[in-house]
Amino acid sequence: MKWVYFFDEGSMEMKDLLGGKGAGLAEMTRIGLPVPPGFTITTEACREYLKKGGEFPEGLWEQVREAMRNLEDITGKSFGSEDNPLLVSVRSGAPISMPGMMDTILNLGLNDSSVLGLAKQTDNPRFAWDSYRRLIQMFGSVVMGIPRDEFEEQLERIKESCGAKTDVDLTVDALKEVVEAYKEVYRRYGKEFPQDPYRQLEYAIRAVFESWNNERAITYRKINKIPDDLGTAVNIVTMVFGNMGEDSGTGVAFTRDPRSGEKHLYGEFLPNAQGEDVVAGIRTPHAINEYSKQDANRHLPTLEELMPDIYSELLEIAEKLERHYRDMQDIEFTIERGKLYILQTRSGKRTARAAVRIAVEMVNEGLITKEEAVLRVTPSQVDTLLHPQVDPSAPKREIAKGLAASPGAAVGTVVFDPDRAVELVESGKKVVLVRPETTPDDIHGMHAAEGILTARGGMTSHAAVVARAMGKPAVVGCEEIKVYPREGYFVARDGAMVKEGDVITIDGTTGSVYLGEVPLIMPSIGGELETLLKWADEIRTLGIRANADTPEQAYRAREFGAEGIGLARTEHMFFGEDRLPIMREMIMARTREERMAALEKLLPMQRSDFVEFFRAMEGYPVIIRLLDPPLHEFLPPREELLEKINELKMKLLKADSLKEMDGIIHEIQATEEVLRVVTALQEFNPMLGFRGCRLGLIYPEIYEMQVRAIIQAAIQVKKEGREIYPEIMIPLVGHSNELRTLRETLEKVADEELKKADVEIDYKFGTMIEVPRAALTADEIARYAEFFSFGTNDLTQMTFGYSRDDAQAKFLAKYVEMKVLPEDPFRVLDRGGVGQLIRIAVEKGRKTKPDLEVGICGEHGGEPSSIEFCHMVGLDYVSCSPYRVPVARLAAAQAALRHPRR
Ligand code: ADP
Ligand code: MG
Ligand code: MG
Repeated sequence: MKWVYFFDEGSMEMKDLLGGKGAGLAEMTRIGLPVPPGFTITTEACREYLKKGGEFPEGLWEQVREAMRNLEDITGKSFGSEDNPLLVSVRSGAPISMPGMMDTILNLGLNDSSVLGLAKQTDNPRFAWDSYRRLIQMFGSVVMGIPRDEFEEQLERIKESCGAKTDVDLTVDALKEVVEAYKEVYRRYGKEFPQDPYRQLEYAIRAVFESWNNERAITYRKINKIPDDLGTAVNIVTMVFGNMGEDSGTGVAFTRDPRSGEKHLYGEFLPNAQGEDVVAGIRTPHAINEYSKQDANRHLPTLEELMPDIYSELLEIAEKLERHYRDMQDIEFTIERGKLYILQTRSGKRTARAAVRIAVEMVNEGLITKEEAVLRVTPSQVDTLLHPQVDPSAPKREIAKGLAASPGAAVGTVVFDPDRAVELVESGKKVVLVRPETTPDDIHGMHAAEGILTARGGMTSHAAVVARAMGKPAVVGCEEIKVYPREGYFVARDGAMVKEGDVITIDGTTGSVYLGEVPLIMPSIGGELETLLKWADEIRTLGIRANADTPEQAYRAREFGAEGIGLARTEHMFFGEDRLPIMREMIMARTREERMAALEKLLPMQRSDFVEFFRAMEGYPVIIRLLDPPLHEFLPPREELLEKINELKMKLLKADSLKEMDGIIHEIQATEEVLRVVTALQEFNPMLGFRGCRLGLIYPEIYEMQVRAIIQAAIQVKKEGREIYPEIMIPLVGHSNELRTLRETLEKVADEELKKADVEIDYKFGTMIEVPRAALTADEIARYAEFFSFGTNDLTQMTFGYSRDDAQAKFLAKYVEMKVLPEDPFRVLDRGGVGQLIRIAVEKGRKTKPDLEVGICGEHGGEPSSIEFCHMVGLDYVSCSPYRVPVARLAAAQAALRHPRR
């Protein structure tokens, strides 16, 4: 079994086996970029190791030793040698990038004697001892599990005692003292730093394998839905040194600006520094060029100024990598005594805005196709772009400013602890997580928060990178605030003390932090997003409609690209202040005459609503659903009525005139009458009770009035010279007879209106499919319907037998956690069960009526994976809330690309 691949044996296609980092190093080696020699232990070896409960698979160790001998030959150095030691880094790298999840060990191979060799060989004892103390430190925390702070404490102590301001100021003697102090730390934990370099290597490889199952990695995988069984590769890379003096350094660069997407090399670097110093935020990194400067490093010279040749070589490499990978790259580089090395390349994380801009510009540059561009932007990135921004005209009090690390605005209660953040969010609060800086241990809190604010760290700090990946607004490196997480407050620029529970607003687009809640505005779509979505429209075969209950929502949906209304719910129109009393009158009616009188009053109101809908969606279909909820929803709750009656009785006791008494008695009687009706309407299970078409059949006047209003409105709008396509939808049908009976009466009403007006309108009559029986008998139902719309909220409730609100409140989250269910089926359509019913209904429905129009109007209509399913089963359209329309346009196009229709 081959467990080990030298860099020149691999390629970018071998990501699954070599991990992302390993495949990148191999590919860069292959195309001739300056990568230090090294090799990769496969993910297969890791899986095997974990399966065997922590035992190296057969042959692995021999192959590693063989590869090390090979490295010695190539570099002319020898591992553990006293005069010319070979040093390596041991780096994890899973098939899917998991930033910061697993730790790298640098300078492996140093020990008490080879450190002397390194000092002699480089003629730089300071560098040698600095490298050694870093190894002991990293090895201690990563491999031995000794808390990082233990080492930090020692380092700080010695820095203080010899008056060193930063790490770089430490003398050789001070560094030797640090090494001794570190060894002492090991001893305190009952451990010892292994002097044998192969021992070091073995331990380090084990640690990388095992880090696959550390808590941070597991959390990251859970949040990002990465499978748990991929395993990680291990990369062994010859060390190059950025800490060999002022002609050395280390940095990171993005081939395009990861914030805005602008085509410009963007990055940071630190002179005379190694590996993780840039990310750690210990010293302020320099910008690599003028373009990348921030307030914090404006005064520092850039890489372009300090090492112009290196900079132009980096520029060239960046371009080459981008052309090669056809995507924006995030590059790690190190300069050792004036020579540039590339240590990593990967697709760069970017903000949603940058993702869209880069995709569109790369098409314009001829680098990728429109189809690729559409696949490169995720639906959730589009969603992020439709997130709120701070209203520029609103009054606000800025209390600090930091780095604009991840755009968008967030309002929330300040919280300092990640666990507490999760807790508050679960109790329904919105929070902003405020930390001195973040580490992978904070991920769950960051995930829960609306936004993130840190006092330390740069644009490539953990907080910044993770926030961008999550699409959360973040302000980082906000040095104007002092954070006291344990005490639960921070102090702002002007001395204001902000405690847990106070509300702040952060603006990740500008870096501003405001006290209190600043009003936010929703952005509209335009520019590159519009271009991308137009391409998506060309590709997708699914129609996109919107669910809108008001004409305003309909207009908004149209702006966002909706091609019709998939669901207009009429009951919302009855809740208006002027309408509810009439609606109640209708419900309280004791005779048909009384009911007709109330309906007569409601009709013109409904008609005017529909007129507006038809105008808003001129040229497009509008599906109007007739009354659906149980009637008791329009009446006050029982308890409220009982209380009111009691109050009135108390008042009666204190009444001091007969006239007043009469008034009160009258009111009591009226309220008792309402109570009587409410009691009569009371049901054990209202959601499965007297509602939808069941109401429509028992009280036909209600639906008749609604249909009359729809057709009258249609006639009016048609007369305005507009093209309209009304579709009348009957809810909750379970038996074809329900639909047949209703259709007979309602069609008569519609035709009567049309004849009266002498106008012809092409209207459709159809039903929601939301009762399992309807799906199973769709062939019969289709005889009386021109269209079906899947009401997947109810259909999911009834298929699973879950009452949605109860299930979500009580056990669904737990179910998902226990992997009883893969997802919340009310969020992501359950393909196996509910999806099966949809499949059956589509097939049977179309058998009866080949041109049956079929869509979905449940909340799943705006969820990407559900949209994909709708595409696959051949629906005509999906309908979702107006703000999801752009997301749905993209998701539908991606579905079309992934599953072309025959
Ligand atoms: P991560 O996945 O967290 O980015 P890396 O394995 O890329 O971890 O390494 C952490 C840091 O160490 C990076 O800055 C990287 O450039 C640096 N590094 C890794 N290997 C070497 C090496 N052989 N020589 C010099 N620096 C290295
Ligand atoms: Mg890296
Ligand atoms: Mg329903």
